[in-house]
Amino acid sequence: MTKKRRNIILVLLKNAQLSNGGVANECPIQRIFNCELRVERCALNVYSFPPMNTHPETRPASPLSSCRLCPRACGADRLAGRLGYCKAGVQPRIFRYGPHFGEEPPVSGTRGSGAVFFSHCTMRCVYCQNHPWSQAGLGDDLTIPALRTIFKGLAAQGCHNWNLVSPSPWLPQISEAAADLIRAGISLPFVYNTSGFESTRTLDEFSFLADIALVDLRYANPASAAEGSDAERYVAAARETLLWFWNRLGPLDVDDDGIARRGVICRLLALPGRVHEAVANLEWLAKATGNTLHVSVMSQYTPVYRAMEMEGWNRKVREDEYKLLTDAVSDLGFCEGWIQEFEGEAPADLLGQAMPKGQGAVGAG
Ligand code: SF4
Repeated sequence: MTKKRRNIILVLLKNAQLSNGGVANECPIQRIFNCELRVERCALNVYSFPPMNTHPETRPASPLSSCRLCPRACGADRLAGRLGYCKAGVQPRIFRYGPHFGEEPPVSGTRGSGAVFFSHCTMRCVYCQNHPWSQAGLGDDLTIPALRTIFKGLAAQGCHNWNLVSPSPWLPQISEAAADLIRAGISLPFVYNTSGFESTRTLDEFSFLADIALVDLRYANPASAAEGSDAERYVAAARETLLWFWNRLGPLDVDDDGIARRGVICRLLALPGRVHEAVANLEWLAKATGNTLHVSVMSQYTPVYRAMEMEGWNRKVREDEYKLLTDAVSDLGFCEGWIQEFEGEAPADLLGQAMPKGQGAVGAG
């Protein structure tokens, strides 16, 4: 795949592994540092739960009372203090927020994408670089007004968009926080930044939170999805999700300055020994959406977290494997998007989760 052969934009996304919540996707730690994310120390008060009305006949109806926000549909009564698979509670919990420059160029733009990294992912990726908050749940519980203040602050700082990173367990709370702002005339395009493991019924309900979609297609084989992310149903769910966004938002639309206003970017992360699945997803995309879809192809899988000890997941992708994927982009005629340069070695600062405590965090993290 070369620039000469196709008109696809070749961009080095050195530190831009997938940035949706929970999987090695979402904002990888090194991205936060290298993209000069401006640290936002939050002076917000940590929320104390009010006495909850847990009476099933008198408490207000809420999607949280029998949570089916994501495809796991575990039915947890979060209002009554029960925790489902993702362990998300009632108050929105976030780990970091701030102007973020590590997304694809039309999303980061010149002033940054207003990223909010939510804790508690619905996936369990063995290679997740964000596991301290996506799986272990670090972060701080906020009030709805506090979350609203964060959105407002990101807009005031000139961010191009509100980038919701792994938002699915928190959509009702995000909706409530954003609605008042929008009514008050404060509005940015929403970036829905996701692993792809979404419920389209939920997306129907909260569709106003998606103007731009950053959607992964990670696996094409349910067994891989089960082993890598404990999400056997991922393949069907992610493809349905991608189509939902595509049918609603269509191809990426940018303004005169090249800043994204609307549309879909599909991210394909090459996984070791599973590049053929990324190729299969590209082939599926070519049929399902056509090759005008913007694709973002990434090479920098890094074996961190549980993957370091797991045969088959404990190595980088080889260059010859990655070439199969970049050749497929060309052969299938995709002509819009970004291909990350191949990187043979994992950046040393990725390994070991060496994240300074509190940097960029809301509270202690
Ligand atoms: S968002 Fe969490 S609690 Fe709700 S269905 Fe999914 S895993 Fe269960």
